[in-house]
Amino acid sequence: MLFSAIANYFDDQKVSLNNLPYKKLIVGFSLCNFVFERYVSYRQYRLLQDKTKKLPKILEGKVDSKKFEDSNSYGLAKSKFEMFSSTYTLLTSVALLIFQPTVWNYSSFFADKLVNLVFKKEFASTIILSNVSFFIFRNLISGILSAPVSYYQHFVLEEKFGFNKMTKKLFFTDLIKLNLLTCSLASPFICLLGWIFKKCTDNFIFYIWMCVLFIQISMFILNDLVIQPLFYKFTPLENNELKDKINALAKECGFPLSDIFMIDGSKRSSHSNAYFSGLPFMKKKIVIFDTLIKDSTVDEVVAVLGHEIGHWKMNHISQMMFFSQIHLSIFFRLFKLVYKNNDLYGDLGFNINEAASKSESILTSSNIAVVNDYPFVVGLIIFSYLIQPTDTAMNFIWNQFSRHNEYEADKFATDLGEGENLKNALLSLQSTNLSTISVDSLFSKYHYSHPTLSERLTAIDKHERFFAKKEK
Ligand SMILES: [Zn+2]
Repeated sequence: MLFSAIANYFDDQKVSLNNLPYKKLIVGFSLCNFVFERYVSYRQYRLLQDKTKKLPKILEGKVDSKKFEDSNSYGLAKSKFEMFSSTYTLLTSVALLIFQPTVWNYSSFFADKLVNLVFKKEFASTIILSNVSFFIFRNLISGILSAPVSYYQHFVLEEKFGFNKMTKKLFFTDLIKLNLLTCSLASPFICLLGWIFKKCTDNFIFYIWMCVLFIQISMFILNDLVIQPLFYKFTPLENNELKDKINALAKECGFPLSDIFMIDGSKRSSHSNAYFSGLPFMKKKIVIFDTLIKDSTVDEVVAVLGHEIGHWKMNHISQMMFFSQIHLSIFFRLFKLVYKNNDLYGDLGFNINEAASKSESILTSSNIAVVNDYPFVVGLIIFSYLIQPTDTAMNFIWNQFSRHNEYEADKFATDLGEGENLKNALLSLQSTNLSTISVDSLFSKYHYSHPTLSERLTAIDKHERFFAKKEK
């Protein structure tokens, strides 16, 4: 693997990672990434603007010219919005990186003041608590900075094409809920991480990996029990015909179905979806968006679920989790090379001085933070900026892997005899979601985790012909 090779190289060669111009490298990587992404988006933009482009042959007679035009206009509007939003994101993320020491100083200052106020005694937080308050403060700033872009996306872009169903009140309550949830879930994790960094210096990768695995499993459970119900209302499916057909399908496939729910996705958007949830080897519940039920026939919804059950049958979720574990363990292995590198922190304005007292770092007018231990959350953030080029490469690999799984799940649904229904369902999903029909090949490889509509229909047709031949 690419990551492993890099880690081994640095280990074997004893390459010095000191005295590198980290800040320049990070800004350079961010710029290169931005230019690359803009190039990819430009290719898509050019394609959508091309007036001579035609509807793919397989969609002739299935998608009318009005829908094709609407899909192009929606794609173009998204493309223009992305040009603006990505520039804004680049500027704010580089600014947040450069002013990290100031954010650190202020977050420590406010955290101490808050504790003083609540417990009425002098308090100077430990390095772990400083990391937690830094994370919360930074998250708040980045939430405030990204809110206008998100607001524009919902209330101007999506609104223009009739997709936004959110009220402004819901938008802001969602934003507050999401930030509170992120901070309350991340804080114990940061404390645990800090403890591992401190106590298990030699084999911390193993413990971190265990810890992340534990978090992922908890998130799977919490997502079902707490997170999703905070945002959506779950009601048991009432449509008896659909319920009976889903139960029959689950029985045929040996799918361990516990409940079928409908959620009020229409409260936020008219885009539609369906999914199943539950840990491996345990009972699963199926969740269908009310928008999907409203816009599709019963047989089409059943075919979509046939596809979802295909993902379960072929262990796609477990495979994804397995690869993400490898990815994470390599990420931390590489992080180990730099997480105690004073030059890395120093170049980004963090002066590590074991003898420093807390008061030295608080509210210095310059953009420098003096800390008496390694600010590991800062380290993780800097490191994630530093490995951006490998992230870009991983994007292609993940998408390739995911697209392969999508084809497999489509094949599974086709083998169940749901091929025609699935094709109709995909066509009606395209119509309700106005998903882009004309997609540039590089844009699709970089951004799409699912094959395009015409690619999927072609593959299902091919598989149906193969299936019919085998039957004869
Ligand atoms: Zn799928």
